[in-house]
Amino acid sequence: MKFGGTSVGTPQRMQEVANLITPEQGQQNFVVLSAMSGTTNSLVEISDYLYRKNPEGANTIINQLERKYAQHVEELYSTEEWKQKTHEFLRESFNYLRTFTKMMFTSFEEKVVLAQGEIMSTNMVTNYLLEQGKSAVLLSALDMIRTDKNAEPDFNYIREKTLAKLKENPDVDIYITQGFICRNAYGEIDNLLRGGSDYTACLIGAAIQSEEIQIWTDIDGMHNNDPRIVEHTEPVRQLYFEEAAELAYFGAKILHPTCIQPAKFAGVPVRLLNTMDPSAPGTIINNVMQHGSIKAVAAKDGITCIQIQSSRMLQAHGFLRKVFEIFEQYKTSIDMVCTSEVGVSLTIDNTGHLVDIVDELKKYGTVTVEQDMVIVCVVGDLVSSNIGFETRAAQALNDIPVRMISYGGSNYNISFLVSKDYKTRTLQALSKSLF
Ligand code: ADP
Ligand code: ASP
Ligand code: MG
Repeated sequence: MKFGGTSVGTPQRMQEVANLITPEQGQQNFVVLSAMSGTTNSLVEISDYLYRKNPEGANTIINQLERKYAQHVEELYSTEEWKQKTHEFLRESFNYLRTFTKMMFTSFEEKVVLAQGEIMSTNMVTNYLLEQGKSAVLLSALDMIRTDKNAEPDFNYIREKTLAKLKENPDVDIYITQGFICRNAYGEIDNLLRGGSDYTACLIGAAIQSEEIQIWTDIDGMHNNDPRIVEHTEPVRQLYFEEAAELAYFGAKILHPTCIQPAKFAGVPVRLLNTMDPSAPGTIINNVMQHGSIKAVAAKDGITCIQIQSSRMLQAHGFLRKVFEIFEQYKTSIDMVCTSEVGVSLTIDNTGHLVDIVDELKKYGTVTVEQDMVIVCVVGDLVSSNIGFETRAAQALNDIPVRMISYGGSNYNISFLVSKDYKTRTLQALSKSLF
């Protein structure tokens, strides 16, 4: 069971979570918690001040955050003993954060700072469970979750360490750990990127072969479009693993972009549930493919489109390989690709090496770069034998300038690339015509 930031954001929410995670007789729950809502953003802000060598700015935020947490403790616990214990723990955590205002600040220190949110929230909830007399143990994610040299989760390590922890603590009702944080291949504190607690939950659920992985958040499951942008979106009750993976990867914020993969490989169903309305049905993600329906739309921002035009592509085998090798060399993954006889257009979201990539590409043709693009992805049963499905999606966009279309890469998706100025109109038009 994973609870996101808003689900643990107030003392009342933490108390509700404590009820939700108390298992029935004879069962055990493994619980992954995010930092309290807003905390990771504050820690990012603290880091920004420290990068800019402004310790006063960082201290102001640290003090604000400390006051908020102290108030939270007073409301959460009912006994002096647990109030004092938790105040003491938090005092040490905030003093630790203050030590970073007096030293060199690099990306290494930043990751340690970002880890403190989950370390604090898991301590607070565990202490509350213990105060309530529940059987609970806090396991450090830093001992279980590790990434490899490619910054990908090291699944064998995770499985081995997590199962060993369960073996060490066999008779416990509730295991708690931090989402998001991990160690990297060099043993340093690192993280699974923003929203990474979903990923932690799916990695652990897959590792221990849990009955189900539950992602508890602040909305009733996966909606058929982005509810922050489109009105009257509706929950989708069931998704096939591949459909959910495409939606997550292409921008549905309710799930971390790559978290479905481990669950899919392990065959463990993922259920999205609402902490604010625990009895609502939510969404189940499993191995069942419902044929004949379009399920949902999502959008991924911050996309850069690169076009390479070469008259030499004409019958030139090896052109695409040379182009793709450049992206591989700069460890930059490509999302969409469209080719024609004279060129290729593709999209990336990581522009860290854009200048070098463009320099190299210029050896093979004329290069054009367009930034601030958005991939809009329509997900459902989009196998080619379903005649007319892709046309329905495309027709909805009849007055929108579409830069690229990708269909046929998988049986579950058709993607459109549009400029960010057209994102809202594109999402609204698709909802209107598809749902
Ligand atoms: P948590 O902190 O629990 O991880 P997130 O903010 O990461 O929660 O994800 C939940 C939010 O995702 C929702 O409140 C909603 O605004 C947003 N969201 C974006 N797209 C979708 C979608 N297709 N379905 C449901 N929620 C979505
Ligand atoms: N706290 C982290 C974040 O805000 C991880 C998560 O919430 O999933 O990104
Ligand atoms: Mg999230």
